[in-house]
Amino acid sequence: MGKKYVIGVDLGGTKILTALADLEGQILQRVRVETGANEPAEQVVRRINTTVEQVLNEAQVSKDDVLRIGVGSPGPLNIKEGIVLFTPNLKWNNVPIVKMMSDALGLPVLLENDANAAALAEHAFGAGKGSSNMIYMTISTGIGGGVIINNQILHGFSESAGEIGHHTIMADGPVCGCGNRGCLEALASGTALGRYGREAVERGVDTLIGEMVEKIEDIDGSVVTRAAQEGDRVALEIVDKVANYIGIGIANMINIFNPEKIVLGGGVTKAGELFIDRILQTVEERALEAPRKLCEITFSKLGSDVGVLGAIAVALK
Ligand SMILES: [Zn+2]
Repeated sequence: MGKKYVIGVDLGGTKILTALADLEGQILQRVRVETGANEPAEQVVRRINTTVEQVLNEAQVSKDDVLRIGVGSPGPLNIKEGIVLFTPNLKWNNVPIVKMMSDALGLPVLLENDANAAALAEHAFGAGKGSSNMIYMTISTGIGGGVIINNQILHGFSESAGEIGHHTIMADGPVCGCGNRGCLEALASGTALGRYGREAVERGVDTLIGEMVEKIEDIDGSVVTRAAQEGDRVALEIVDKVANYIGIGIANMINIFNPEKIVLGGGVTKAGELFIDRILQTVEERALEAPRKLCEITFSKLGSDVGVLGAIAVALK
């Protein structure tokens, strides 16, 4: 009898979401637990294994009917060897997660970085469905993404391709978390949005942004976005600036990869209607005409399930 199910594990810094799905990617059962990121890796992996047993028990599905487990994890990873090399959020170093899981569970396990997994989810089940060349870009605290070329995720020589957030937009721009200056992430992430808001309030300009919080440190991307939604001029200017940088990043992607679709996800794009006109205008001004005309820019349809659906997409590969 053929295998009928796969399991996806979305491993994050704060929570683990594990789901059982059929071979069409339809989620049948899910379990969500706290990651416990301060505990040793062995304990966290044991907790992951427990969630796998749990979804199987709750759905009354036997392991014999499971094709594979896909795991989406923060990186950097060694995908071929199934090792999480290092993750700042989990404080992991060289954790052989694939071996630890497959030894304990007796099932094949495939590892993928979370941004690539999300790209595969949009490609298989979401806004990128039906396109063979697609780029997923997630804009939240940071900016990440995945590049799909001819239906395959682009891993690069040592599996670090697709770091969309770390291409330079401004030569002398602000210092990025990666050490470079003027990366897209340093200029256009939710973190940057919050920083522009704090700077505006510190300059003493007339804006709602400062009135929406008790302390200036509480100003983050979502506060600036809310002020913009209420029509605050300063917040709208900040959003316009950020949307312009995102547009520059997208224009670069179009020129380099000639994608059919670019799918935008992440917290910042929840207020996508605020950003989209300016993004499209910048792309029109900056991208080469021929590939730009054929490229559709659209928003993620998968919402907060994108991570676990990504892990499921990895398991179905
Ligand atoms: Zn960077």
